[in-house]
Amino acid sequence: MAKQVELLIVGGGPIGLACGLAAQRAGMEYVIVEKGCLVNSLYRYPLNMTFFSTSERLEIGGVPFVSTNAKPTRPEALEYYRRVATSSHINIRLFEKVEKVRGNGDGYTVVTSKDMYEARFIIIATGFYDIPNLLHIPGEDLPKVTHYYKDPHFYATQRVIVVGANNSSVDAALETYRKGAAVTMVIREGEIGRRVKYWVKPDIENRIAEGSIKAYFHSHLTAIRETEAEIQTPEGTITIPNDFVIAATGYQPDFHFLEKTGITLSDDDVRAPAYNPDTMETNLPGVYLAGVVCGGMNTHVWFIENSREHADKILADIVTKRNT
Ligand code: FAD
Repeated sequence: MAKQVELLIVGGGPIGLACGLAAQRAGMEYVIVEKGCLVNSLYRYPLNMTFFSTSERLEIGGVPFVSTNAKPTRPEALEYYRRVATSSHINIRLFEKVEKVRGNGDGYTVVTSKDMYEARFIIIATGFYDIPNLLHIPGEDLPKVTHYYKDPHFYATQRVIVVGANNSSVDAALETYRKGAAVTMVIREGEIGRRVKYWVKPDIENRIAEGSIKAYFHSHLTAIRETEAEIQTPEGTITIPNDFVIAATGYQPDFHFLEKTGITLSDDDVRAPAYNPDTMETNLPGVYLAGVVCGGMNTHVWFIENSREHADKILADIVTKRNT
C-alpha cells in the first residue's frame, strides 16, 4: 500500500534539506527521499575541495555554520549538513531512488526503488551532479578516464591529462601536479576560466607560464587509448603518452527524469525547466523545483548561496494552497 504524505521532497542535498526544514517549521508532514547518502553530491566532491562560498552563505534553516577559515572545506560542510539533519530530526530516507512521479488526480504517486508514496505536493531538488557532460570521443569509457576527480595521491608519478579550465579542472591540475604527476591541460578556450577562484587563478597561470604544467589552449582531446591520447591543437593533431585522463567537463541535471515527470523544458540548448520564479511551481500543479536543478544546462547560475531561498518561497506557496 502506498504511504500517504503531504509533501515529498526528491533529493537530500543542501537544498532538499532546506526544504525539509522549511516544511518542519510550517508544521507540514513531509519526507525527503534521497538515492544516496546524506548530501550525496558533496560526499562525492574531491576530498580536499574548498568551497568558494563563505560558510554563512551555505547555512540552511538559520543554523550557524562555523568553519575554521572563511571558506569551508568539504569535511566541514559534511559535518555541518549532517549536524543540521540529525539535530533537527529531519525525516529522510537514504539510499532510496525516486524512479517515477505521476499524477493521480488528487496529487502524485511516487514510485521509488523501495516503496510507493502518495503526496499532494512534490519538490524536486535533484541537483546536477549525477550526469557528467561527456566528451563523446573514442576511449572515453576506458577505466583510466574519470569525470569525478577525488584525490591527488592516486596520480603520483603518472602522466595525467586534465580536460577543461574551470574550478574543478584547475584544482585537479594543481593538486595532482603537487603530488608528482606530469600534468597536461587540454583547454577548449584561449585562457583559464574567468570564474576560477580568484586566489587559485594566479597559481595555475604561473605554473603554466613557467612550464611546470603543460597547457594546450584552443585544443580538444580527440581520442584516448591505453597508453596515449590524441589532441587536436591549432598547430595540428598531436599524440602524447598518457596514463590517466581527468575529464572535468561539468555536469547536467537528469533531464530524462524531469521530462518523464512531465516538466516542460525549453527547446534551446539550455533545456531550462519551466517554473514560476515567484513560487518555484512548475507547469505541473503542486510540483516545485528547488536548488541547482533549476538552471538546466546553465549550471553556473544557481548555487547553494542563492538557491537556499527557494525553500521558503515554495513552502509559502504550499501553505497558501493547503489552506484554500
Ligand atoms: P545536490 O547537492 O546535487 O543534491 C541533489 C540530491 O538529489 C543528491 O544528493 C542526489 O543524490 C539526489 N538525487 C538525484 N536524483 C535523485 C532521485 N531520482 N531520487 C532520489 N534522490 C535523487 N555552491 C555554492 O553555493 N558554493 C560553493 O562553494 C560551491 N562549490 C561547488 C563545488 C563543486 C565541485 C560543485 C560541483 C558545485 C559547487 N556548488 C557550490 C554548486 C552547488 O551549490 C552544489 O551543486 C550543491 O550541491 C547544490 O545543492 P542541491 O541540493 O541543489 O543539489
